[in-house]
Amino acid sequence: RQAELAQWVNRRTISADDHHVELAANIGKLEDVQKALDNGAEAIGLFRTEFLYMGRSTLPSEEEQFNSYKYVLEKMQNKPVVIRTLDIGGDKELPYLDLPKESNPFLGQRALRLCLERPDIFRTQLRALLRASRYGNLKIMFPMIAVLSELREAKQLLSEERSKLEAEGVELAEYIEVGMMIEVPAAAISADLFAKEVDFFSIGTNDLIQYTMAADRMNETVSYLYQPCHPSILRLIRMVIEAARKEGKWVGMCGEMAGDETAIPFLLGLGLHEFSMSAGSILRARELIGSLSKKEWDVHTDQAMTLASQDEIQAFVRNHQQGGA
Ligand code: PEP
Ligand code: MG
Repeated sequence: RQAELAQWVNRRTISADDHHVELAANIGKLEDVQKALDNGAEAIGLFRTEFLYMGRSTLPSEEEQFNSYKYVLEKMQNKPVVIRTLDIGGDKELPYLDLPKESNPFLGQRALRLCLERPDIFRTQLRALLRASRYGNLKIMFPMIAVLSELREAKQLLSEERSKLEAEGVELAEYIEVGMMIEVPAAAISADLFAKEVDFFSIGTNDLIQYTMAADRMNETVSYLYQPCHPSILRLIRMVIEAARKEGKWVGMCGEMAGDETAIPFLLGLGLHEFSMSAGSILRARELIGSLSKKEWDVHTDQAMTLASQDEIQAFVRNHQQGGA
């Protein structure tokens, strides 16, 4: 099977009727980049930078971060690399920051919320990213945004750091795409407002599902509610893609759902542009997409969207996958 899949490593990802989508890898550690390339990733769709901050006793310096980002960008040559700014909080703690205990950390000062509260930490990361930008095709992504003012503030800090570096004579990429994760239902529902102010979205289904269904993604006792293919989730995804399309922006997905073989056919039908997943899932996804007709799935997807439950939707996809290709 491994040998069979290997033939897909150096190919572009195209559907049976010639529609191209991008298959990207999620990475956390620097070693993951090689694995992404070995598995034929066309891009890095999510670099979870929190791993640079964890398992140590002090914050990583600007220089350390710069070297890590530069390494990933160079290694990927000119392929797109989406680097997400620090997403700490929730279940990921940094003991050395000595933050106050929260009773609901997943609903607390997580990710960008913390970065805006601690601009010293955030600015250091932004400077490292900006300085690394000239070594490849960097895109910067902000996590956990719920309201426009957060996005605007983050972009403001980024542009201030850019101006400072330029004044210092540091060479930077001329244009860096800036995007945001869609993982808070409020952002999904108001995606039309955000679409005007970003270059791209990446849907973080791991969190979007937990927040939409009000079911902790780590709690087994409510795992029956954790339903990627629930109509509410599919409608949110459709809204996000539609909103982006109207503004001419691209949409990726970097939650686990992007690599889920029952979800891929209708994500293709919904018009998702980029699928980012763990490296080990890429070749199977490429093979699967190669067997699907985008035109047919446009129609199937419209039908699937009228169904009432995850069970019905998954059964529908399986039927059409077997019958279709
Ligand atoms: C997500 O929420 O789907 C996501 C990709 O981010 P993380 O899993 O790091 O929270
Ligand atoms: Mg998330």
